Amino acid sequence: MPTTRAFVAQSATSPLSAGIIDRREPGPHDVEIDILYCGVCHSDLHTARGEWPGIVFPVVPGHEILGRVSRVGREVKGFKPGELAAVGCVVDSCRSCRNCRDDLEQYCDAGPTWTYNSLDKHLPGKMTYGGYSKKVVVDEHFVLHVREQANLAAVAPLLCAGITLWSPLRHWNASPGKRVGIVGLGGLGHMGVKFSHALGARTALFTTSPGKAQDARRLGADEVILSRDEAAMAKQALSFDLIVDTVAAPHNLDPYLNMLKRDGTLVLVGAPSEPHPSPMVWNFLLKRRSLAGSGVGGIRETQEMLDFCADRGIVSDVEVIPMNAIEKAYERMLKSDVKYRFVIDMATL
Ligand code: NAP
Ligand code: ZN
Ligand code: ZN
Repeated sequence: MPTTRAFVAQSATSPLSAGIIDRREPGPHDVEIDILYCGVCHSDLHTARGEWPGIVFPVVPGHEILGRVSRVGREVKGFKPGELAAVGCVVDSCRSCRNCRDDLEQYCDAGPTWTYNSLDKHLPGKMTYGGYSKKVVVDEHFVLHVREQANLAAVAPLLCAGITLWSPLRHWNASPGKRVGIVGLGGLGHMGVKFSHALGARTALFTTSPGKAQDARRLGADEVILSRDEAAMAKQALSFDLIVDTVAAPHNLDPYLNMLKRDGTLVLVGAPSEPHPSPMVWNFLLKRRSLAGSGVGGIRETQEMLDFCADRGIVSDVEVIPMNAIEKAYERMLKSDVKYRFVIDMATL
């Protein structure tokens, strides 16, 4: 069994450290990728620290993977050694249920195989291990094409932060004439501001951090609203078509529901480990509003998003870190001190 170096969380309370993991020999449909960069998602932190149910240790986080193809299986048609390639949050699915047939593999009825902490179909009894590692082997259906460009580190976060905002903004039709709110300016939120602006919607950022207002405008926000300013929040009543909430901690949803117009939608993408307080029913029924959720995105829409970004020159705003700075990065993430995505340079592992 081939092995590769990785950074591993042995338990919810032990800091990540260097280790060795198994990676399968590429099968006929597999692409093997030498990882150059891996983005750091708040989901990595939730998982490495055991904050979500069902986490099996050891864990190797990382699902914003960008690298170069090193080997391909004999049936692989779409990739050649030396090309750029990327992997996001999903590495396998049943490929036959209605969601897989609709190119929404992340909603596979049989359960998608997540890039980390899922049962590995190829290595019985093992879990999948993510991108905090030197190499990964993935079925070509779940590998994305990336165009050659200058700042490759800044492309990696598109694979989770990017697609997680792109998918709901497209599904609920962020476009000219619409007023869209993004809650939280972290990894996901800053991509939401960029995409909502690029899609032509009037874009507002809600933030708890007054110091981020100037950046938010540079990233494409038309307005910045401090979510702890109750008067400023109340002024926004009945004025939004769509609000996408990226916050990684439980909070009161009612102020955001109140801001929706009739038939407006509040989409939750943040995934706190504890539930939000229950919203007031009246806020839904008096204006036929909806509360929804959205999970990453399918492979086809991820490729569409990557191509849109390459055409428009859109990347993530990143701070590149060495592998051994990961715990410090997690601590800064918990203080909302990320500008706006940490990306690990895998040459440092
Ligand atoms: P992040 O970079 O840490 O950003 C989260 C932002 O939320 C912070 O920068 C902060 O923005 C705001 N925030 C944090 N704590 C807050 C609090 N107590 N009250 C109000 N606002 C707070 O995290 P991320 O990587 O973007 O991920 C965000 C969440 O989405 C995580 O729970 C993650 O697991 C989840 N996620 C979901 C999906 C999906 O498929 N749905 C995909 C990826 C990640 P301000 O400083 O601007 O307030
Ligand atoms: Zn993620
Ligand atoms: Zn399926």
